[in-house]
Amino acid sequence: MKLPESIQVIERGWLSSNNVVLHARTGAVVVDSGYGAHVPQTLALLERVLAGKKLARLVNTHCHSDHMGGNAAIQAKYGCRTSIPEGEAPLIDRWDEQALILAIADQRAERFRYDDTFRDGDTLRMGGYDWRVIAAPGHDTHAVMFHSPEARVLISGDAFWENGFGVVFPQLFGRDTALAETRATLEAIGRLDVDVVIPGHGRPFGDAGAALERAFYRLEGYEEDITRLARHCAKVMLSFALLEKRSMPLAELPAYVARVPILAELNSRYLRMTPAAMAEWLLNDLERAGAAHRNDGTLYATGN
Ligand SMILES: [Zn+2]
Repeated sequence: MKLPESIQVIERGWLSSNNVVLHARTGAVVVDSGYGAHVPQTLALLERVLAGKKLARLVNTHCHSDHMGGNAAIQAKYGCRTSIPEGEAPLIDRWDEQALILAIADQRAERFRYDDTFRDGDTLRMGGYDWRVIAAPGHDTHAVMFHSPEARVLISGDAFWENGFGVVFPQLFGRDTALAETRATLEAIGRLDVDVVIPGHGRPFGDAGAALERAFYRLEGYEEDITRLARHCAKVMLSFALLEKRSMPLAELPAYVARVPILAELNSRYLRMTPAAMAEWLLNDLERAGAAHRNDGTLYATGN
């Protein structure tokens, strides 16, 4: 498994998406900008990887906080052209905190501007290769992937990971097609010629076929029982918040799960627990998964 020299992946921890830097004489392109709380680190890493060369363009696979959180800062520093998926544009125009999964999930991102959009079927020139834009709905309705048939590389964002895919939101806010979209996106990936996948989180990987099998297995579990997905979604949302805050007083957790709209809606629609019971269940589950541990009345993120 080897990436072309012009493609460099800055692999990040879980709060931030990876940043993919594609070098070319006409200027570099960076795909995705990480989470807002990590901006200083993102800028330092980018500066090192660019080594004085020009950053011509910033491109997003989708507009979730951990992929667009550094957009404003990167624009301010490099004055680069910014391009986003066409479907995200109206959400960015009106800064739709619900559709962008910001305040409703206790997440934040600095508002940014974009210069243009791209859509399924378009071709982007990045790192000396032509990349086909492929719609990748599921985790985010408007998400895209970038595929270079020549380099045989897929930049998959959160549509496809080495172990699964980015959390899919069950029927919330009137949207009930997410699992069917996820299946169609995975099937589309199966039809591509790919030697290396660069996911939005985690290391680049080969053997897309085996990873697809794992992804389909996971998807089938959710298709069989939607409450599995609701539980997974609640755990992902709390883990993310905990990673940002690093710690939370245990006594505040029931009020937190009742206050954050996405957790409250998952609970009222699928889980139907008291806030205290939901907090206790989440706590036990995150501890069992090694994502958190409690000590002296406080819940701490472990970073796993
Ligand atoms: Zn995402």
